[in-house]
Amino acid sequence: MLKIGSHVSFSDKGLQTAAKEAISYGSSTFMIYTGAPQNTRRKPIDSLYIEEGKQLMEEAGIGEIVVHAPYIVNLGSYKPDTFELAVGFLQEEIRRTDYIGVRNIVLHPGAYTDKDAEYGIARIAEGLNEVLAGTKETNVNIALETMAGKGTEIGRSFEEIAAIIDKVQDNHRLTVCMDTCHMHDAGYDLINDLDGVLAEFDRIVGLDRVAVVHVNDSKNPRGAGKDRHAPIGSGWLGHEAVSRIVNHELLKGRPFILETPWIGKEDKTERPMYEAEIALLSGNTLQRFGEPFLEDVERLHHFFGKQEIDPVIFVLGTWEQLKDAKAKKADPREPMERLFDLVMAGEALPSGLTEEQVNQRITAWFAGKQLLANV
Ligand SMILES: [Zn+2]
Repeated sequence: MLKIGSHVSFSDKGLQTAAKEAISYGSSTFMIYTGAPQNTRRKPIDSLYIEEGKQLMEEAGIGEIVVHAPYIVNLGSYKPDTFELAVGFLQEEIRRTDYIGVRNIVLHPGAYTDKDAEYGIARIAEGLNEVLAGTKETNVNIALETMAGKGTEIGRSFEEIAAIIDKVQDNHRLTVCMDTCHMHDAGYDLINDLDGVLAEFDRIVGLDRVAVVHVNDSKNPRGAGKDRHAPIGSGWLGHEAVSRIVNHELLKGRPFILETPWIGKEDKTERPMYEAEIALLSGNTLQRFGEPFLEDVERLHHFFGKQEIDPVIFVLGTWEQLKDAKAKKADPREPMERLFDLVMAGEALPSGLTEEQVNQRITAWFAGKQLLANV
């Protein structure tokens, strides 16, 4: 069975809160930050509701889960304070991860800031050597994430990931987290040459290192170096390419984690599309959402078909348009919001659906008519 889930909240009652949220989306795995991703303040270990969370996970058949290290720590920094803070905090975070019983902690390798890539790679390896040496008693691996290449971040190419691994002594404790949005933004062609990209990764890093896959669509074209996630189907990768990745033979068994943005007209009405994305990518939309849901999706195909609106062409056309500053100022709405407005104005769906329900149906429309044929 496909292991798929999303980033969930670890606030309030820790693992119990996280497991509940993950189960509500129909997840078979999930990912947590053990505190706010943008700071290093952490709750004491005994207030994380580990046992209660594990109980819920067991009942729902959730086994492997993933921890993400906060993204503010920078092992690539030449500044002694920043570097030492990162090393010390990562060691604590690894002990916490071990205590929760998680095998992989995802880490953004780091950024070289005012130096250069060569310096960054060496510095990150130096940091990883220290971090690993101080946490030998744990069972935790560090999963280096493939990055988009924005700013001075390291990990934008498979070569950079391999160069770090090469320089680390205990590198049997280093794994990799592939991020689909980041790889696409870094220039890898996941749409037309997925097999080629995986073969290249295997040659340079080794596919056996891949422990986690972050599943995100991208708001930017291939090679943009931007790192802006989009819900599956509403970006440049598209539903089909993402589905091929998630179901690829060579990535079988890994936890696939969605980090897609929440969608809504206003901040307070924003909802994640995880439940729909998980069902669509695992092929159990009918079981999860029922017959009327698919009837609604068929209505959307009919509604948009009449206007000759194709999902891929519409989505890419909108992102193209938004690249132009003037056009963006005149109409800043992203693809899903525009589609939502069209659906509402055209009364394409039965009344009484919530904004979230309408957006879930639009997400399913991205999956193409195939979805209706397969059930
Ligand atoms: Zn990440």
